[in-house]
Order: sequence, then C-alpha cells, then structure tokens
Amino acid sequence: MKKIMIDIDDVISDYSGYLGLVNEFLKTDYKIEDVRGYYIQDLVPENQKEDFIQFFVTQNIYDHSSIFPDCIEIIKKLNERYDVYICSAYVFRDNLEYSADSLKYKFQFLTKNLPFLDPHNFMFLTKKEILNCDIKIDDKIENLRNAETKLLFNAYHNQSISEEELKAQNVIRINNWLEIAQILLNEEIN
Ligand SMILES: [Mg+2]
Repeated sequence: MKKIMIDIDDVISDYSGYLGLVNEFLKTDYKIEDVRGYYIQDLVPENQKEDFIQFFVTQNIYDHSSIFPDCIEIIKKLNERYDVYICSAYVFRDNLEYSADSLKYKFQFLTKNLPFLDPHNFMFLTKKEILNCDIKIDDKIENLRNAETKLLFNAYHNQSISEEELKAQNVIRINNWLEIAQILLNEEIN
C-alpha cells in the first residue's frame, strides 16, 4: 500500500479559528486576504502581541475552526486504499509552553473527527521533510519534500508561488478535497 502524509492546519482544518480569535481580540473584521505571510497572529500590532498571546493560550483553536468540505469522507475512502498518516507541527512559535497543549488539542481533534484512523499513524513534528513518503498533502511547499507525489493545498500564504516554480518542483496545486479525490481515487468532480 502506498503511504500518504496529510497535514492538519489549512488542509483538514481551515484558518477561521486563528482569524476569528484575532478579530475577537482586536475587535476588528480582518479578512484572510489581509494576512501577509504565514502567521495570522502577525495582524496583531506589536504593542498588543503579549496580551494576545495570553488570550490565545487559553483557547483550543479547533473549537473555533471549520473543517474543509468533503475532507472527512475523502480521507475515509483514502484510508481504504492507502496507508494514511497525519503529520502536523505542534510547536507554537509565540509561546513554547503552549506547544504541549497544542499537541493535545491536535490529538483530540483527530480522534474526534477522524475516529477511523489509527492513532499510531499520527505524527507530530515540524521538520516533515525528514520523512520519505509516496504522497504528501500540505499547504507549505517545503513540507512536500521527499515525496513522489506532492500536493500543495491552496492557501492564503502560498498564492505567490508561480506555476513555473510549482512545475520545477514537481508540485501540483489543489484547490479542494474533491480535486484530491480525483487525483488519488480517480473520482470525478461533480
Ligand atoms: Mg498546514
């Protein structure tokens, strides 16, 4: 069986949790297009950063995020044809102590929403490129290294990667889970 590594954030779970918490804290109405770079919390002005982090670490991000459409059903089908692994970074840049909570929340998110997956196939690490895998699905292009099939999940922070660059790195940009089903399960998009 071929092995697939699937990321959580911005692949299974969307950005609405982070953005919602930032807007709730700042009392703003930022849209995802306003985010520059990878970290949504960088919308918070420097002089309010500390207070935001204090607020953020009291939250479970997955209580505020949505799951991408069709994702659960398609992972369930993938799991019948492939060895499915989940691989997600858990170290929280802005407060290292929170990383332990982050890991717990990720584990709980997976067992709740993807109960058909074997928890032994959950991997929590940042340097995903150290792992070889047949297929990788991630929203960060550097996390796709050392895979035969590289699927870049379209996200606010990877828009600037050109088609030429993707081609040069043998990466396919995908826009939604139905496109993943089409590629990996040969299922037509309705
Ligand atoms: Mg991600």
